[in-house]
Amino acid sequence: TGDGAAVVDAVEAVAERIEDERAHLTELDSAIGDADHGGNMARGWAAAAEAARDLDDPDPQTVCKTVGKTLMAEVGGASGPLFGGSLVFASAELDDGIDAESAVAFAETYLEKVEDRGDARVGDQTVVDALTPAVHTFKKSVETDELPPLEALAKAVDAAERGVAFTVPIRAKKGRASYLGWRSVGHQDPGATSALYILEELLAVAA
Ligand code: ADP
Ligand code: MG
Ligand code: MG
Repeated sequence: TGDGAAVVDAVEAVAERIEDERAHLTELDSAIGDADHGGNMARGWAAAAEAARDLDDPDPQTVCKTVGKTLMAEVGGASGPLFGGSLVFASAELDDGIDAESAVAFAETYLEKVEDRGDARVGDQTVVDALTPAVHTFKKSVETDELPPLEALAKAVDAAERGVAFTVPIRAKKGRASYLGWRSVGHQDPGATSALYILEELLAVAA
């Protein structure tokens, strides 16, 4: 379907963006982790784009499931199961395709799964700090303010950007960065940063 092809386009855009940001993501992870987040994500998304391209006339759910499985297999580290496994799980919300309602359900399920798998909540200096404001803003914009999905997504991206900034002045409580204790304060979380880039590309492709 047309929607499935649009999702494949989005995956390709994400893969390109992550490749462009590889060095920056690695630099962020070298400050508070093990300097592999750029490589992990670039490898995973390149493989995901290839797998998505190889699908024959896929629907959105199939694309998301394929990308999630490929990320799980290729990314490794903490972020493979977090970013990929949660995507496989949340893709169940897309069995009737993508509209405003299923997109909200998908986003909420994805966030819940990342929180569960990582045992992380907002304020722990992780990807959850970007996803939580993005998902909450998207849901409120669609359901309460009744904004068109594209405007809601644009607001969600702004919220994610503020979430990434919020990771800087707080202390890491999950993941490798937490081993640094108070020395993690003052550093931007790599996973939150890559989540922002992914959302920015989804918006760019949808616009
Ligand atoms: P690793 O830490 O295994 O080397 P990556 O460097 O690829 O994996 O990913 C690190 C990112 O994963 C962190 O910046 C953080 O956003 C996210 N992360 C790590 N552990 C958790 C966790 N328990 N819950 C949520 N997110 C986490
Ligand atoms: Mg790392
Ligand atoms: Mg690692």
